[in-house]
Amino acid sequence: MSIDALVENLIRPEIRALQAYHVGNASGMIKLDAMENPFQWPEAMKAEWQTLLAGCALNRYPHPVAPEVVAGLREVMEVPEQYGILLGNGSDEIIQLLTMAVAKPGACVMAPEPGFVMYKMISTFVGTDYVGVPLKSDFSLDRDAMLAVIAEKNPALIFLAQPNNPTGNLWAEDDLVAIIEASNGLVVLDEAYLPFSSRNHLSWLDRFYNVVVMRTLSKVGLAGLRLGMLFGRSEWLNEIDKIRMPYNINVLTQASAAFALKHYNVLMEQCAVLRSERENMMNVLAGLGFETYPSEANFILARCPEKNARVIFDALKEKKILIKCLDGGHPLLSDCLRFTVGAPEENAQLFAALQDIL
Ligand SMILES: *Cc1c(COP(=O)(O)O)cnc(C)c1O
Repeated sequence: MSIDALVENLIRPEIRALQAYHVGNASGMIKLDAMENPFQWPEAMKAEWQTLLAGCALNRYPHPVAPEVVAGLREVMEVPEQYGILLGNGSDEIIQLLTMAVAKPGACVMAPEPGFVMYKMISTFVGTDYVGVPLKSDFSLDRDAMLAVIAEKNPALIFLAQPNNPTGNLWAEDDLVAIIEASNGLVVLDEAYLPFSSRNHLSWLDRFYNVVVMRTLSKVGLAGLRLGMLFGRSEWLNEIDKIRMPYNINVLTQASAAFALKHYNVLMEQCAVLRSERENMMNVLAGLGFETYPSEANFILARCPEKNARVIFDALKEKKILIKCLDGGHPLLSDCLRFTVGAPEENAQLFAALQDIL
């Protein structure tokens, strides 16, 4: 048998049909495409961190439950003692753990769309059915459509990102509550953008025993570390923890995250700058003729004035500015671009470039 035939024979067809997750080359570009925090740490803090890293024992396996990181998270995020904290190699890994844990034959995962693409991709990897439920055209939840899927398919896992990516909005609380109350599955409130949002769902752990809350350090300035976390009742977390690889949080990540959490105020001050830059960017984009959508995150979704999203995207790229073009993806996002809010000087360069292009 040729290797091609062997691959075709062995690899699951849904895997062969996938396109590998594409990350473009961004060297030398102003990166406003991936919701990263653009700011550096103060020099003294950097130096202290480097000394700490120099003392890390790379020859030893990491601590299996990263107690310093857990303690730091509990403190800065005010997680009550009665709830557990499970760590993942980014929240992507936590999504994978949750999906694997519920993936009985016939089980399904549900999420609103357009939404975070990893929910669907990981369902495919794991081999569970996935149902994407379209949002309404104003990007609010289609409560009736979601309740209908719950009644018909009884999803084992429901992902609700609040704020949602790529739309940036929060959904009406009564819609969220109706879905959680109707569900006989586990509902994951994904708060990846919490530091930019006006609503925090941690207390929903008290209200609903079928809710867990997922967060990440990626959007507050530590995307390179890969650290995500899940907060919830021990009944859930004890089961999920059984399928977590024992050393999923490496030595350098543990040391760096514990350190960063001791200086969390620095990160939060940077996020405050980004929130104010976001309001400025909102005004500028609207002034340039974009239809902008309210954002509670560190990015803005904007619809282009004349069906020229791809043209604007390419022209910005030509000028070494990388954003995200959403046109051609979900039908609700036709002519849409997503701008990550950058540092003030990056945003100024973006505005100048747009003025030039439009
Ligand atoms: C960026 C993002 C994440 C974070 O993923 P990490 O693996 O922690 O970097 C999770 N959920 C949503 C909705 C996101 O946009």
